[in-house]
Amino acid sequence: MSQAVCILGVTGSIGQSTLKVLQQHPEQYSVFAVTAHSRIQELVQICKQYHPKIVVVPAAKVDELQQLLAQQHISGIEILSDEAGLIAVAEHPEVDVVMAAIVGAAGLLPTLAAVKAGKRVLLANKEALVMSGDIMMQAAREHGALLLPVDSEHNAIFQCLPEHYLQTERNGQPKLGVSQILLTASGGPFLNHSLEELQHVTPAQACKHPNWSMGQKISVDSATLMNKGLELIEACHLFAISEHFVTVVVHPQSIIHSMVQYVDGSTLAQMGNPDMCTPIAHALAWPQRIQTHVPPLDLFVNHQLDFQAPDTTRFPALSLARQAMQEGGLAPAILNAANEIAVAAFLQQKIRFTEIATVVEHTLNQIQNSAAESIELILQADQNARAVAQHFVLNKGS
Ligand code: NAD
Ligand code: MG
Repeated sequence: MSQAVCILGVTGSIGQSTLKVLQQHPEQYSVFAVTAHSRIQELVQICKQYHPKIVVVPAAKVDELQQLLAQQHISGIEILSDEAGLIAVAEHPEVDVVMAAIVGAAGLLPTLAAVKAGKRVLLANKEALVMSGDIMMQAAREHGALLLPVDSEHNAIFQCLPEHYLQTERNGQPKLGVSQILLTASGGPFLNHSLEELQHVTPAQACKHPNWSMGQKISVDSATLMNKGLELIEACHLFAISEHFVTVVVHPQSIIHSMVQYVDGSTLAQMGNPDMCTPIAHALAWPQRIQTHVPPLDLFVNHQLDFQAPDTTRFPALSLARQAMQEGGLAPAILNAANEIAVAAFLQQKIRFTEIATVVEHTLNQIQNSAAESIELILQADQNARAVAQHFVLNKGS
């Protein structure tokens, strides 16, 4: 029977790749609901091609969407708006699969709603899990949701772990013969830049990732290595493993997407051409496999695999994230919120690239950490951190 899919963030890079995979399997999947924050013209094209039953946009875009749909003679689509609309489609009884591909904290409540409704949730929106950690994982267990990683590294780790790994005790220790997780990082576009050179890089340079084509925010995060920091936290929650057992390995070619090491000396790696359609298809169909257009690796062409340790002097964001994970509580949510503000400020050329980590560190130092006991407390910490980070950006250094 066909599965009804809801794509949160359909106009984004992951949203587009998801459509690309679904397009190849029209008998297996239908697009039930899609959401977008901007790019309404593109959204209309998506409606034309996929005929979703429900579309969600910000309230301020509803009129524009209605007009464009009418111009294109597209009818029969229900339009919902704002966060209430996002939550409604995420937990809609007719939806089987939710692709969580909104960027940043804006995706937290819709993603959590999908989890609480017991859906198959394909998790691209790592910020949602970084912020809510144990609460999201606990909700998935309580409500029988299948939370499957789309982030290429986590999808790779999931593929390399023993079959029933996620159903075993969650105590922070590796188990079933696993000894550690090797989280690979491309190193981003500035892997070999000096600290001095990093002071002067531009948003356009930061957004030009050598191996992946992604949204602006994650591209900047990849350049600072904050992306790897967020992924470290994401891995700890998904795989119930303490950060102590997750080692970051810089692998510039992005052919190995991550590895799992075992006590007997084995290292399992998942490899493939860097294309998000592979992890998306894997999470959609798991435990089955479905076809994508991604060509298989040609090892006679993709010859070299290099590895090195990350340099946390030039890329301090990674250490800040590891520290936040060690501290636990609200620290990861504070880190994430401050980073979102700092990245936006860098993209608007209000701060330098190297100041992104400064803003995050300052915010973490300013806000008292406490236990992340509820979503309300997490959202409060997110708001506080945004205010502190914003203030620091506007009055730089004071
Ligand atoms: P993107 O910027 O290309 O797309 C973001 C999507 O979210 C868009 O559809 C946009 O309309 C929507 N959106 C933005 N702000 C919103 C808001 N306030 N409310 C509701 N919707 C909003 O981003 P992306 O690269 O597709 O990344 C999406 C998520 O997936 C991020 O969390 C990112 O870290 C993660 N991810 C992306 C990749 C990748 O290759 N692009 C890989 C791994 C993980
Ligand atoms: Mg990733």
